[in-house]
Amino acid sequence: MDNCWEFKGCGRQPGGHAIEELGSCPVPLESRASGINGGLNAGRSCWAVAGSLCDGKVQGTFAKKLMNCGSCSFAHKVMKEQGGEFINAANIIATLST
Ligand code: SF4
Repeated sequence: MDNCWEFKGCGRQPGGHAIEELGSCPVPLESRASGINGGLNAGRSCWAVAGSLCDGKVQGTFAKKLMNCGSCSFAHKVMKEQGGEFINAANIIATLST
């Protein structure tokens, strides 16, 4: 199962090709989310992480991200792959705030 940076090829994970030019994304570094939906750090729960860098810009707070991430093909893929084991945004945010 892939993480968002592998699926999207953004290159903003540690060692990624776009780090120098565009900076790193907080998602691959969010260790509190490690293992959620089978991801490395927040790699399969990125929609719940504030300040992610998808589409070339900072995505802002979770509330601001809802519209964009709700139509993201990666989020839909994770939901489908996890089936009944899918951990939703509310539970991810609860984990991140502990
Ligand atoms: S959330 Fe961050 S690491 Fe994941 S695809 Fe988007 S920019 Fe890349």
